[in-house]
Amino acid sequence: MKILVINAGSSSLKYQLVDMDNESVMASGICERIGIDGLFTYKPQLEGKTVVKDLAVSMPTHSEAIQTVLAALVDKDNGVIASMDEIDACGHRVLHGGMEFTESCIVNDDVIAAIKKCIPLGPLHNPANLTGIQACQAVMPKTPQVAVFDTAFHMTMPAEAYIYAIPYEYYEKDQVRRYGFHGTSHRYISARAIDLLGNPEHSKVICCHLGNGASLSAVVDGKCVDTSMGLGPLAGFPMGTRSGDIDATIMEYLMGIYGYDIKEMMNILNKKSGVLGVSGVSSDFRDIENAAKEGNERAQLALKKYFYEVSKYIGAYAAAMGGVDAIVFTAGLGENSPATREAICANLGFMGVEICSERNNIRGGEHLISSDNSKVKAFVIATNEELMIARDTKELVTK
Ligand code: AMP
Repeated sequence: MKILVINAGSSSLKYQLVDMDNESVMASGICERIGIDGLFTYKPQLEGKTVVKDLAVSMPTHSEAIQTVLAALVDKDNGVIASMDEIDACGHRVLHGGMEFTESCIVNDDVIAAIKKCIPLGPLHNPANLTGIQACQAVMPKTPQVAVFDTAFHMTMPAEAYIYAIPYEYYEKDQVRRYGFHGTSHRYISARAIDLLGNPEHSKVICCHLGNGASLSAVVDGKCVDTSMGLGPLAGFPMGTRSGDIDATIMEYLMGIYGYDIKEMMNILNKKSGVLGVSGVSSDFRDIENAAKEGNERAQLALKKYFYEVSKYIGAYAAAMGGVDAIVFTAGLGENSPATREAICANLGFMGVEICSERNNIRGGEHLISSDNSKVKAFVIATNEELMIARDTKELVTK
């Protein structure tokens, strides 16, 4: 069985063709600048096939992008499949499933309508995700489409974790509550961690998805009980450009001084804050680490603030779960920055967390990085959201 995994953004579309017989990637790539001009990247994984990088292809809409992907996959010389009929199903990442979706599902008219209903909750992503689904439906009308939601894994949170302490009517009437994101990644790495722990009957895992966007989750016996992002992805600890949790009074105060409207204010919190805002250097941790090494004090402060807030969340989740068996690091920073993992874990010595510097000196893969004396196991586990989407898709279409 072959599954095409699609992650559609407003002007981009990432794709991966997965052979589910051995869960191997046959080809992957990205369409960028959709609606502007169009750039196409295609990375076939079969021997003798050629990588295509940043090829200019006209893509006025996502429909042309999907057609470009399919044409490359079946290309007589450079393709990886003989015909489109070999694609058994498509799996789509959808950002916001609101309260409607607690798990992945096969797309039908009701599902499309429900995803549309969630657009106010995910105004930047859900329209693009829908466009990706509808573009696939248009060019592959007989192929089943599956939607996999970023929010679904977190729907097991208890009410005390998801409710905000504002008038209850906003929850009842307007679905204002904590939803959380990166759910597919948290689901993947928590399941792998439980596996690496030897599949105990009971487990308490803290997942740290530390990328440009970042979130933590607390997972008891494989079920999410709390997560750091909220109604939207701005909440939690500081990220590349997002502020994380702040006192809402700051917004009123700055809007009063500078006359910002709410859009400008939100843009500052989403795009100009986080480690970029504090350091003034970059949103990329590699740049900030380099600047900090050269003595840039704001870069040093940005890193200190980041480590402080992430370790505070880990402490809070250990308290929420009444203990912790494993802490897992994943995504760009979590997988690739030994210094970040070491600095965060250094704040957690009181919980019995002890990192082994030698084991920690790795990037990606799946590794134990805690010492043999550590009371809590720490792992690096490379996330694989695409594989999770492909697995869900296979399960649903073969049911
Ligand atoms: P992601 O959103 O998961 O792709 O993560 C992207 C972020 O990971 C970048 O903004 C970088 O800050 C960070 N990152 C990636 N590689 C490294 C590295 N080798 N060292 C430090 N940070 C890294």
